[in-house]
Amino acid sequence: MTKHTFVIDSTQTTVVIRCKACPWWSAMRFTRDEAWRVASDHERTHHPEQYHAQKMVSAHKRS
Ligand SMILES: [Zn+2]
Repeated sequence: MTKHTFVIDSTQTTVVIRCKACPWWSAMRFTRDEAWRVASDHERTHHPEQYHAQKMVSAHKRS
């Protein structure tokens, strides 16, 4: 079960991130970094068995 759970939808000014497993959840931030960070909080709370967003956060941190 390594499906990508989060979908990012970005415009020039905002980044909306949604969780495929939770239609009621979405978050809006100004950068992808911030969006992945809020997604990783959601993931830790609701999908502790998944690490998609947490991986994305650490991937962004490295650069
Ligand atoms: Zn979710």
